[in-house]
Amino acid sequence: MNILTKKKKGVEFIDYRSRFCDDVLTTALPRIVVLPLGYGKIKPANPLVHEGAAVKEGQLIAKPDNRESIPLFSPVPGVVKDIRKITLPDGDKQSAIIIELSGTFNRKSASPDLSSYINVSPEELWKLLYARGLARHSQPALPPYLFMPLPGKKAKTLIVRCFPNQPWDNTESIIFRNMYREMMIGLHALVRTTMPQRLVLFLEKDADYQNNSEKIFADSREWGVPTAIMPADDFYPSAHDFMLIEKTDGTRLKYGDIPAMMGYVIVEPSTLIDVYNIIAFDRPVLEQLVSVGGDAIGQPTVCKIKKGMPVFELVNIKELSLKTEDVDVFWGGPMTGYSSDWLGSPVLPGISAITVNKRVRKPCPSVCIKCASCSAVCPRNLEPMLLYDFIESSEVEKAFKAGLGYCIECGLCSFVCQSSLPLSPVFSQALKEVNQHE
Ligand code: SF4
Ligand code: SF4
Repeated sequence: MNILTKKKKGVEFIDYRSRFCDDVLTTALPRIVVLPLGYGKIKPANPLVHEGAAVKEGQLIAKPDNRESIPLFSPVPGVVKDIRKITLPDGDKQSAIIIELSGTFNRKSASPDLSSYINVSPEELWKLLYARGLARHSQPALPPYLFMPLPGKKAKTLIVRCFPNQPWDNTESIIFRNMYREMMIGLHALVRTTMPQRLVLFLEKDADYQNNSEKIFADSREWGVPTAIMPADDFYPSAHDFMLIEKTDGTRLKYGDIPAMMGYVIVEPSTLIDVYNIIAFDRPVLEQLVSVGGDAIGQPTVCKIKKGMPVFELVNIKELSLKTEDVDVFWGGPMTGYSSDWLGSPVLPGISAITVNKRVRKPCPSVCIKCASCSAVCPRNLEPMLLYDFIESSEVEKAFKAGLGYCIECGLCSFVCQSSLPLSPVFSQALKEVNQHE
């Protein structure tokens, strides 16, 4: 992958986004959809259908089992072919409902009705969003109970990240540019739902920054919430939740902290579009937008797809001009995305990009040459080589004393390591193990 500049606290990549189509491509319908009952931080729901059952578009097919699961709806009309365990790209094993497309779409074309959401209470709005299957489009995906305060409670700060997270991810920028009106209606509904004391929007610092800022101030003037616009830093991993919170008010969170429990609601335009569709059409979340890019894709494009579309169907769409079959596929961007050889795994909220790169042979790890590249780029001012040494010599406590708990698992240290040491994966494993024992 090409790097333009290494800088203190991050890495700047060449501008992949300029290679994207300006328009959103609505893809053809997938032949099957794969719908795990749980994914990301969303706990499994209970299936309401059985193998062989016919389902309609928008039909409830699994109901929540607890607060951290969400209802699941069929994005297409079809027949349930199977309900079986699959392995998701993050390694999680989940039962999934697999639906084969058949039958017809009988949804009447509806115009948006925005009169009703203005008159319902914040608590009712919260419950409506939950009941229609809203999940936050972060990685990993979050159920409402993990990214919003409890129904009727007020948030401290609502943060909107209107810029992309990784190279080859253009989804949030395209939504901001092409679907601004819908996004702002979704934002107003979320302001009404979470009643924040402060609203902060992070915008790309491009030529339109001033115009976009003025437009947002004009649109949000009536909402009664002090609003700030902040320029996004143009290097990776400035879009991470913890980095945004630190930039907003100086609070430094550590591993295991849940922003919503501390009063922060963080969302992206893609989540706001789901909020808009729920309140404007009173329908569940059935579609999503995803960037498909990478050096094996001839025409990187943001695609509008049915939720649960398998990646093998998506990357073979002719408009994307796949250049070779010998590829590495990442669910997410190439820095923190998950890779898997099973291309039947679906695209779901939480995955804003599919990155398809020509396959490369990974170099074998060697010994640390003390070049300090890893500490130069670490956005959390950590000394990755020191943390790695501590963990490898089973001195995990010392690693925590040296700041391991503040690692955001961004993968930059591993990315720049000249000895190809698996720094970030080792940190993630150590953090996970300690979290499980607490
Ligand atoms: S993975 Fe952790 S240690 Fe490595 S650069 Fe990112 S924050 Fe720093
Ligand atoms: S980048 Fe790799 S080789 Fe260089 S100091 Fe860090 S761990 Fe050692």
